[in-house]
Amino acid sequence: MDAIKAFFRDQGRHLRKEVWEVARQIGERPELGYKEYFASNCLSNFLKKHGFSVDLGIAGMKTAFLARFKGNHPGPTIAFLAEYDALPVMGHGCGHNLIGAASAGAAVILSKSLNLAGEILVIGTPAEETSGGKVTLVEKGIFKNVDAAMMFHPGSQNVSVISSLALDAIEFTFHGRSAHAVAASNFGINALDAVINLFVGINALKKQVNRDMKINGIITEGGTAPNVIPERAVARFYLRARKRSDLDELREQVIRCAEGAASMVSAKVTWRKFEFSYDEMHTNLSLAECFTRNLAEMGIDQIAPPQTAMGSVDMGNVSRVVPAIHPYLTLGTGTEIPHTREFAQVSLSANAENLVLLAMQTLALTGWDVLSDKRLLQQIKREFRQFRG
Ligand SMILES: [Zn+2]
Repeated sequence: MDAIKAFFRDQGRHLRKEVWEVARQIGERPELGYKEYFASNCLSNFLKKHGFSVDLGIAGMKTAFLARFKGNHPGPTIAFLAEYDALPVMGHGCGHNLIGAASAGAAVILSKSLNLAGEILVIGTPAEETSGGKVTLVEKGIFKNVDAAMMFHPGSQNVSVISSLALDAIEFTFHGRSAHAVAASNFGINALDAVINLFVGINALKKQVNRDMKINGIITEGGTAPNVIPERAVARFYLRARKRSDLDELREQVIRCAEGAASMVSAKVTWRKFEFSYDEMHTNLSLAECFTRNLAEMGIDQIAPPQTAMGSVDMGNVSRVVPAIHPYLTLGTGTEIPHTREFAQVSLSANAENLVLLAMQTLALTGWDVLSDKRLLQQIKREFRQFRG
């Protein structure tokens, strides 16, 4: 490891306690998407204390932020992305408290260099679990002048190259006609029956679509009383596929199912997207290889082969506008299952403290390579241009 990287590694060790305190506090005060007031303040204050200028409340989202630190001469711009939202009931069952802290920590480590070219950004991205704050940030052009974007996600193994599934969140509302369920049943149109038809239809459809296409639904409204024929019933679905183009086709198939389900009982159906759509994650391989090399320098050489996460991440939308990586690093036990109470517990453990240190050091070293190695950045950009066609 060269002298400057050894310096960054030491800076990480100095910051360890302070950054862990940020991760721990956010972990102990879980907040849902767009309500992460404590977390966004906590991260902003940490960054301000270390000389970053911070705009809290950007792109129309109160809990999104943009923190900047300019080097002493011109150069590329890199962005570390900070997530910090939690899940209902189980708190930080996806470990986003660690993501925010590690990204902010990496940025501060790099800012300690006396010879920094370019600019370091930390972008605070709310609501990853629900309506993807990154989607809005992409649409509002926040990534316009960014040369590379990166973050890490805690998990059960080390993986540098991932893809994820594109996702559409579709809500169907069935409109029928209410009537007494017994005395005037022939007058009613049962909207709940239409929803049930839809689930039956979708169960049949699932047998015909590719195995990596996923359809998961719940009924969110199904009537008000057993003796009233439901005039309105609502169901919500997440539809996923490996590629946006495949997902567009799947969505059309599901909509046809809903129309059929409605017409079987003479009901009407309307639909809308109830959350933002996520695109599939496209990992920039040149940047991911750089991250892997730095992991090796940190003594981690057990890296799993490229993986398709069976979930969806809003980093997918970022990866279409800027070269990006979304690696996973293990929390240590190898059995962590995301979105569980157990995962939330591990995200506050000594393993998590060690992981935040490793993640922020490795992200900082990778950031340094992008800022200082012109050839690497050219290669990253060439690959990105080819991907964008
Ligand atoms: Zn997550």
